[in-house]
Order: sequence, then structure tokens, then C-alpha cells
Amino acid sequence: MGISLMEHDVIVIGAGPAGSVTAALVAQAGFCVLVLEKNNSCRSPCAGYISNNINMEIPDESVVQSRIKKMRTYFPDLSFHDFELNGFVVDRSSFDRGLSGKAKDEGARIRWGSPLQEIVPGGVKFRDGMAQGKIIVGADGVFSKTASLCGFEKQKFAVCAQYHLKGIKPLSQTCEIFFNKEFAPGGYVWIYPTGNDSAKAGVGVTHGYPRAYLEKFISGTPFSARFDGRKTEYIAGALPIGGLREKLCCGNVLLVGDSAGMADPVTGAGINNAMLAGEIAGKTIVKALESNDMEILSEYETKIRRLLGKPITRALEKRKMLDVCYASNELLQENLPELWVTFRQYWEI
Ligand SMILES: Cc1cc2nc3c(=O)[nH]c(=O)nc-3n(C[C@H](O)[C@H](O)[C@H](O)COP(=O)(O)OP(=O)(O)OC[C@H]3O[C@@H](n4cnc5c(N)ncnc54)[C@H](O)[C@@H]3O)c2cc1C
Repeated sequence: MGISLMEHDVIVIGAGPAGSVTAALVAQAGFCVLVLEKNNSCRSPCAGYISNNINMEIPDESVVQSRIKKMRTYFPDLSFHDFELNGFVVDRSSFDRGLSGKAKDEGARIRWGSPLQEIVPGGVKFRDGMAQGKIIVGADGVFSKTASLCGFEKQKFAVCAQYHLKGIKPLSQTCEIFFNKEFAPGGYVWIYPTGNDSAKAGVGVTHGYPRAYLEKFISGTPFSARFDGRKTEYIAGALPIGGLREKLCCGNVLLVGDSAGMADPVTGAGINNAMLAGEIAGKTIVKALESNDMEILSEYETKIRRLLGKPITRALEKRKMLDVCYASNELLQENLPELWVTFRQYWEI
């Protein structure tokens, strides 16, 4: 067992967007940061759609697979509603690699293949070693080990499946979202173009086996036949849909990103919030370390609630209504404008 007696200022658990952004900021300020990542490389299952609404620095243009200018949302009867937006689709592994590379360049040390196992006084135990650290950041995703070791309950989650399809005809610069109880109970089907003849086609559901629903969607109906292409990649994963946890800090432990329930409970989008929270966590940690005052860490929770509390609470209310409407396609058809973000009605209530 490798024992690291070196005292780190911060130990970050997870090298996803939340963890890497936090680590980069703290390391940039000259503090000693260790990142422990369970996997041997970056590989988060994701569609990789990122909305351009915050001033986000893209690590490398080559990770962008397509630009998105429009979202087309289909009702169960296949009538649709178009909404202009501004975003892009990234190759998620490359995107995460860019962020972890930046953390490394700033001086953070990253240990791959090192899942967190225990939090011990003054540090953590991981597979093959121990490390000491003043502050621990749980950025280890929806099934956060950090959170469960701190006594937090499991989060409510949705399960997702996605194929990367080639040889199909996606709409140009348009993502397509399908609501239908038969194909996506509790969630929706997404199509994100990655080129002229390729797209990521996925589904998120709150119960059942997502891959079976996805298969049913892409090869089971005349209208979706245009997505019946060559499958070049399959991924599956989960995301939190229960909203922000009751607490985001526990002593010297901060929870950031999906581990804290920061993904939108309706859309499932979580990259922007994870990165925003990583930035706030990083800045708060630097302030606490510079003043040698760990009480300052509680400012993280206050700032996050001020920024994300209202939109996530609204989405959580919508999620509860959506769950009710999934009783039938008729209910879904009637109420979708109140429940989906691209409709004006969503923002009125
Ligand atoms: C199929 C799918 C599609 C999605 N599509 C989109 C989308 O298009 N747009 C969007 O905004 N969001 C999307 N999301 C949600 C998005 O992926 C997450 O909200 C986002 O990745 C959260 O970032 P994070 O850094 O908090 O967590 P993650 O990206 O999950 O990173 C957590 C990291 O912690 C590591 N880890 C886990 N346990 C341990 C441990 N014990 N020890 C050490 N390391 C550990 C993991 O390996 C991982 O690298 C999607 C999710 C899924 C499942």
C-alpha cells in the first residue's frame, strides 16, 4: 500500500468537470492539490450538450462535434415546437481530458485508478494508498462515495442509455427531443447531431431498462426510422433528479456537481452547473486556505443556493408534475408546455 504522508491542502475526489475545475483553481493559487479518480482515464457517459449561456472557456476547439442553434421538441402526437438556442456538442471524454489536463498544468497531482474508499481523520483512504488533506471535495458524481461516507442519503436518479449513430440524417444544427410515454417513461429521447450523417441518440427514464426503450425508439416506429443507423458506441449512466441536497458541506468536506444534486431534475443537464460550482468551490477554498479559516468554507453553500437554488427548485416542482403527467400521453400532450424549458409557460409558473 502506497502511503502518502505529504499533507495536501485539498483532496478532490473525481476528475469530472466539477472536480477538475475545482482542482485547477486551487492549484493555480499555489496550493497543493491531489485528485483521486476511480477510472484509469476520463470517461463520463454523456451526450455532451453544453449551453453557451455562461462564459465558459472551451479547453480545445477540437472537442466540439457540432454547434446547436435550435431545439425541436416533439409532443407525443409528433407535433413539434422549435426554440432558438446557442450551444454545442462535445466529445465528453476529450472535454473532460482537457479540464483535467488544465488542473494538471496548474500543478494538481492526479492519481488515476484510485477510488476513494474511506474518509479518515485528517485525510482519506483510497485503493492502494492513503493521503492527508485539510479539505476534501466530493466531486464523484451521482453515486458519490464521499457523500455516503459523510452520512448523506442516496439521491433520486434517472438512468440513461445512448448510441452514437452513423449513416443517418440528423437535422442540421438542431437537437431533437421526443416526449412519449412509450419510449421514455419519466424522461425523453434526445438526438444530438455530431456531423452531417451522425448523431448521439439517447434516452433517460425514471424506471425500466433504458436500452430497451432506445431500441424501441430507433427501430420500432416509422417516424424514427431515419435514426436507424450504424451503432458505433454504446454508453449507459445515471444522473440525479432529486435537486440540491439538503446540505452541501459537512465540516471540511464540500460536495460539488452531481454529487450534490446539481443537475437539472427535468432536463438532466449538469455540466454547466458542475463547472460553475467547481469555480465557486475553488474560489471559496482558496479564500479559506489563504486566511487559514475553515469557517469560510460555509460560504460555498450560501453562494450555491443563491445562484442555483431557485432554478433547481423550480425544475424539481416541474419534475414532480412531469412524473404525474407520465400516467398517459394525453396528459403529457396537454401539459408539456408547462413542463419543458423551451416553452414560455415553463417560466410563468
Ligand atoms: C447518458 C447521459 C447523458 C448526459 N448528457 C448531458 C448533456 O448533454 N449535457 C449536460 O449538461 N449534462 C448531461 N448529463 C449529465 C452530466 O453528465 C453530469 O451532470 C456531469 O457530468 C456532472 O459532472 P460532475 O463532475 O459532477 O460528475 P461526473 O462527470 O459524473 O464525474 C464524477 C467523477 O468521479 C469519479 N468517481 C466516482 N466515484 C469515485 C470514487 N469512489 N473515487 C474516485 N473517483 C470517483 C467518476 O469516475 C467521474 O470521473 C448526462 C448524463 C448522462 C448519464
